[in-house]
Amino acid sequence: MIIEGSWVLPVTDKPIRSGGVRIQNGVISAAGKIVDIERVYPDEDVISFKNGIIMPGFVNLHSHIEYSAMHGRCRGGSFIAWIKDLIKAARNMDANDWLDSSRYGAELMIESGITSIGDITKTDTAFRAIEEAGLRGVVFLEVLGFDDDKIDRVIHDLYIRLEKSANIKNNRINTGISPHAPYTVSRKLFEALAEISDERGLRIMTHISETAEEEVFVRDGTGVFADSFKKIAGWGDVTWDGTDLGSVEYLDACGILSERTIAAHAVWVDEADIEIFRARGVSIAHCPRSNAYLGTGSAPVRRMLDAGVTVGLGTDSLASNQSIDIFEEIRAIDRSINPEERIRMATINGARALGLGDRVGSIEPGKFADIIVVENDSDDPYMVISSSKSDLRLVMVEGNVLYET
Ligand SMILES: [Zn+2]
Repeated sequence: MIIEGSWVLPVTDKPIRSGGVRIQNGVISAAGKIVDIERVYPDEDVISFKNGIIMPGFVNLHSHIEYSAMHGRCRGGSFIAWIKDLIKAARNMDANDWLDSSRYGAELMIESGITSIGDITKTDTAFRAIEEAGLRGVVFLEVLGFDDDKIDRVIHDLYIRLEKSANIKNNRINTGISPHAPYTVSRKLFEALAEISDERGLRIMTHISETAEEEVFVRDGTGVFADSFKKIAGWGDVTWDGTDLGSVEYLDACGILSERTIAAHAVWVDEADIEIFRARGVSIAHCPRSNAYLGTGSAPVRRMLDAGVTVGLGTDSLASNQSIDIFEEIRAIDRSINPEERIRMATINGARALGLGDRVGSIEPGKFADIIVVENDSDDPYMVISSSKSDLRLVMVEGNVLYET
């Protein structure tokens, strides 16, 4: 099959006007000028999109699809009020609700042109939802535990979940681990999870330096996470004196930061932290609309990119976002980031962060045909960032059409 468009936007190479992409067995076998491709394959079916920009599917580097049912149920503006609402809302969900919520989230991803996700799951319903939807992704098993007396149990449960996920015979889905955050995971648990990640080569995604309150908690052992939150979470009697370190330095000391690690949010980071990210090869999941919803601040994306850190883009969940809409997310990135950089963040950077950089994230022969077509008549294909979800004409993963209009 050949797809023809007004442009092919390979992302890792120059845009091609009047371009085409040939797909064979779910893999891109050729990309270039449509006349050249048709000359080599004259008998092949061609699907043409007038004013269609053919580009790699978007990679959503940070999501929690199981929270899709929480839309509008958690207050924005204050992180602590928000997380309390989230804990409360989660108590009313049963196993079926979680699965429905994950399925709904997976559909929203596809309708936004997202073909790969880095998704965190506590209920493990994301595996089934992602598989059924035909998406690609890394599913990170969320782990929490601040009470060291209960760590053995937590690790035991994780091993069972890892074993179950290993039985999933779907090469589009990989498994990772997600230690939730420095205020919900003890140092000992972080260290244990770093070891498991090392042994098994598993990727790690953790929320890091999302709020100013988190930095106060990690450094001084005080603030909202030390009192009201710890009580609600059931760790009120666990001692925590702070570390005299910032969140990033602290997690580095725990051994959790490596080239397999994705740091979600990374808002309150300074030059020294960015240098740690660079030196360790940590990737960042930038979540501009979630940060805005929660009023947590704006991440130094320009400085991280300039330092050579891989920064991808994440929607986070509908519990802390108005919508799952990658176009809105792209436009919400800091204005110092140019259109080309925005597109890279939303595609190849995310793919590399997930360890999928050699398989997806750009239009290149040999990569999987995870492709979208967006209708946009601009003379500059990078202005695809001005499009909206309703301009999506085609979404495919490995050559399978998941959505078309
Ligand atoms: Zn998150």
